[in-house]
Amino acid sequence: MIANYHTHTWRCNHAEGKEEDYVLNGIKRGLEILGFSDHSPYIFPGDYHSTFRMRMDQLDDYIETVLGLRKQFQSEIQIPLGLEIEFYPELLPKLLPILRDRPIDYLLLGQHYLGNEINEHYNGHVTADSSLLKQYCYQTMEAMNTGLFTYFAHPDLFHYAGDAETYRKFMRQMCKEAISCHMPLEFNLLGLELGRNYPDPTFWQIAAEEGCSVILGCDAHKPQALLNLSLEQKALQMLEDLGLKRIDKVELRRI
Ligand SMILES: [Zn+2]
Ligand SMILES: [Zn+2]
Repeated sequence: MIANYHTHTWRCNHAEGKEEDYVLNGIKRGLEILGFSDHSPYIFPGDYHSTFRMRMDQLDDYIETVLGLRKQFQSEIQIPLGLEIEFYPELLPKLLPILRDRPIDYLLLGQHYLGNEINEHYNGHVTADSSLLKQYCYQTMEAMNTGLFTYFAHPDLFHYAGDAETYRKFMRQMCKEAISCHMPLEFNLLGLELGRNYPDPTFWQIAAEEGCSVILGCDAHKPQALLNLSLEQKALQMLEDLGLKRIDKVELRRI
């Protein structure tokens, strides 16, 4: 890997370590680019409080920290400023002006819940309900078409236990849309390390058949995750076996 665009910080409440240590490990690994993409704040109606993302009042501190590191390490590594974010169609329009007012370089699409996270399905929970699978695919297809996202993180997060034919049908549609939107798909190294339902071999077989572009993402929630070279080797072997087309850098899409 020469670039990793998927890096978190402690602000999301489930990552650890100092931001500087992520950068130092990125340099140690020989990365040219280390992008930070912590879980974006969101504006929710009522008094709902999200537990897995930074708060709105932490956004500027996050930005300042990343920009400070960019300056500090400018001769050694490029540090773009990003956010990982869900496409919640009802809520995103209120958030976008706030993000556009700030020097955010890119957004990664990470669709952890369907329409919202207050009363809708968590995509990592196993389900055999094909209507939820369909909603996941259609909603992320809509997201890709907004042109807001630089790449699609763990597109195979949705944990489906229904029949394989339905899974293939909807995921193939999603992969075709990714191609028409020139949207790289991320092969997620955290999921691989932890033995989660993703990377899903069936999904990646479809992505290979459709000719999708694939990029590795560490999804680092601790600095040491950036030094796991055996995990990278394992992933590269899987990509090769599947005949997937890997890219090692992406063009950042401005928001
Ligand atoms: Zn996370
Ligand atoms: Zn992530």
